[in-house]
Order: sequence, then structure tokens, then C-alpha cells
Amino acid sequence: SIPLSFFAGIGGASNAGVLVKGSNYLETLSQTKCVVFDKTGTLTQGVFEVNEVHHNEMDRDDLLEYAALAESASSHPISKSLQRAYGKQIDRSRVTDIQEISGNGVMAKVDGIDVAAGNSKLMDRLGVKWIDCHRAGTIIHMAVDGRYAGHIVISDIEKPHAKEAIQLLKKAGVEKTVMLTGDSGKAAEHVAADLGIDEVHAELLPADKVSQVEALMKRNTGKGKLAFVGDGINDAPVLSRADIGIAMGAMGSDAAIEAADIVLMDDDPIKISKAIRISRKCLRIVY
Ligand code: ADP
Ligand code: MG
Repeated sequence: SIPLSFFAGIGGASNAGVLVKGSNYLETLSQTKCVVFDKTGTLTQGVFEVNEVHHNEMDRDDLLEYAALAESASSHPISKSLQRAYGKQIDRSRVTDIQEISGNGVMAKVDGIDVAAGNSKLMDRLGVKWIDCHRAGTIIHMAVDGRYAGHIVISDIEKPHAKEAIQLLKKAGVEKTVMLTGDSGKAAEHVAADLGIDEVHAELLPADKVSQVEALMKRNTGKGKLAFVGDGINDAPVLSRADIGIAMGAMGSDAAIEAADIVLMDDDPIKISKAIRISRKCLRIVY
């Protein structure tokens, strides 16, 4: 039978906005020594601002229109941000053959013309030469009709509590914090340094995140449990693979919420250390 204090623990956590899907997760959580984060939407708000548009021959507005239209079927934070920056109604009938490549970007036909919007890896795949623009932030490269058409520089901001969340984890006895992201090294290292994250791995595909977590768990064997915290569509596999998976509940994707063991109802990373404290308190009562 399940000790009563586990119910109290689950109840206490839920009052704090942390949904724990079973009492066994409280025990695992209490032993967490390594917390691994996805970046976009987890430590950052996942709401990108468009900072600059560099266009070649095409107009700035035309390039943004191609980007917004090509992105019109995606629910990625980047695509939502580009559609918002475009600001006009999107006529979906102009867009066909949509393909989203997770961790890379999107391809579609707009008015019958091939359009691709994504990172340098997507351009490489298409054999399109891209220009490195040396800007901090995330660069969305654009190819139109098979030719490089320019890039859009976007940036995301850290969640208000992200830095404090990392500090509180250290205070709660977490020995290592790690960031895994599909974004560029430049964008990732900037955020990691600012937040005080110990280790960062960038330019990862969803499958790479799983192998990174597996390697970390191997290195951590016998030293405690590993928690992964994420929000995205692409995070479901890694959420299931970690000792404990924690999903952002408000903005997070349904797949991530489904795959997680614990859900943070208000997407606030500060709740992770709170949940660890609650789990330890409840374990002390049991044993
Ligand atoms: P994260 O690990 O930060 O959550 P993702 O794995 O979702 O990031 O995406 C990694 C990278 O792939 C992004 O930084 C971006 O360069 C590119 N990308 C992914 N989805 C899109 C999209 N819909 N449009 C343009 N670029 C995208
Ligand atoms: Mg993500």
C-alpha cells in the first residue's frame, strides 16, 4: 500500500502548481542530483522578437511574408514569432507541400515557389550556400526558389525566474545543471553563462538529446537521479528516457505533457527546486 504521506506530498506539490503523476516519482525526485534543461520555452520564454531582417534582392516585407507563409502550419515558437512579426492575415491556400523537419526548420511551396526557413543545417541539406552573420541570437536562414534569399535574426528572452531557479537547485543539493538545445552554440552559450548552467550542448537534433541524456545518466550512475525539463514537441522521447521527466504545462505541447512524470502548471522553472524539497520532506516522513 502507498504510505499516506505520499498523498500529502502529491497534494502539497499540486498546491504549489506541480502535478506529480504518481507517488513513485516523488521518491525518484528526492534523489535528483543532475537537472538537464531544454532551452527554448523552458529557460527562455519561447517568444522570439525579430531583431533584423537581411534580405538580398527581395524586399524586406516579401522575405518576411515568405517566412510567415512557409511557417503557417507549424506550432514551433519560432514559427509563431515569425507569423506575429509579419502581422497580416495568412492566406493558407497559397501554401502547399509543407514539410517540418524537427530541429532544422520548414520547407513549403508558396504560390508554387519552393521556400525553406530554418538553420544552417537545413540550408546545407538543400545545398544552398548561406551567410554567417555573426549575430547573437537565433538566425533563420531563408531559401526561395533554391537560392539564398537572406536571413532573419530573432532573439528570445530568459524567463524572469530562470537564474534564481538554477541557484535554488544548487541550494537544494543538485550537483550539476545542463542545457541541451537545437539552437546554435552562440545563442546557447550566452544564455547558459548568464544563468550559471554548468554544461551546455548545442545544435542537437531530438535524437541527440536522448543520447546526451543517456551519456549523462551513465556518468552519473550511483550518484543520484537525472531529471530532464522540457516543453517542446521534440522533447517527448527525452522526457521518457530520463529518470524523471518534467514538462512545462501551460505552453508545453500535449505530447510533452503526456510523456512527462511531472508537469509544472505555470511553466515556472523555480518550481523544480520546490518540488524536490516537497519530495524530500515527504520521504523523511515515510522512512
Ligand atoms: P530547442 O532545442 O531550443 O527547443 P528545437 O529543437 O525546437 O530547439 O529547434 C532547433 C533549431 O532548429 C532552432 O533553433 C531553429 O534554428 C531550427 N528550427 C526548428 N524549428 C524551426 C521552425 N519551425 N522554423 C525555423 N527554424 C526552426
Ligand atoms: Mg524546445
